Amino acid sequence: MEPSKNPLSLHLRIRDGLSRIAMVMRVDDWNAAKTTALNPTQFAILSLLAARARTGLAVKEIAAHLGVSQPTATDSINALERKGYLRKTPDPRDGRAVSIGLTPEGSEALLAGKAEDGLAAQAVEALDGGEQEDLLLCLIKMIRHLQERDAIPVQRMCVTCRFFSPYAHSDSERPHHCHFVDAPFGQSELRVDCQDHHEADPAARAAAWTAFKAGLTDPHSQSGKE
Ligand code: SF4
Repeated sequence: MEPSKNPLSLHLRIRDGLSRIAMVMRVDDWNAAKTTALNPTQFAILSLLAARARTGLAVKEIAAHLGVSQPTATDSINALERKGYLRKTPDPRDGRAVSIGLTPEGSEALLAGKAEDGLAAQAVEALDGGEQEDLLLCLIKMIRHLQERDAIPVQRMCVTCRFFSPYAHSDSERPHHCHFVDAPFGQSELRVDCQDHHEADPAARAAAWTAFKAGLTDPHSQSGKE
């Protein structure tokens, strides 16, 4: 039997576990959206755009990030625009497209919905610092795997950023370097969605990932370059 079909396989049990967490996150999304009289897709659009305040996003980018069709995204965007939560401006990257961004009213609605931690956030809080860091690393590996296979859009993670130098420092607390802010940082500070991210070219991405993985296995083999 394939490992993924064996009901006792580790793969399947991890997937089961992830699906339970995903279910709780959906409940959190419903509760946050209800606070603001929106549906979860509309609320997710506000969250997504809050992290893209500088540039905004095109409809097709919003659809891709949310994993919904463009017509579904368009319906939600139009509803949010009618509420005054979004504005459309000409997209500087494409003269025929529009860029969608949050209005101050949209930001306020988002803050109201996020006023309280959801159940998933509380479950993360129940982990100790080392467990949270381990979970972050596992998530980064899984997200990168999906991204490299074009299953999800490019995520603005340190491990795919041209400003990222893994294990550039001998300090085990802060081994990595961000050249954007020109500062060292630690494992627990690795970003999953950074506004300052610039995607590295494929060769640089692959080299950084190789160095990052090698450092995870043996931090001393990579550290001490400075
Ligand atoms: S700019 Fe952001 S994503 Fe890039 S290395 Fe620095 S913190 Fe990470």
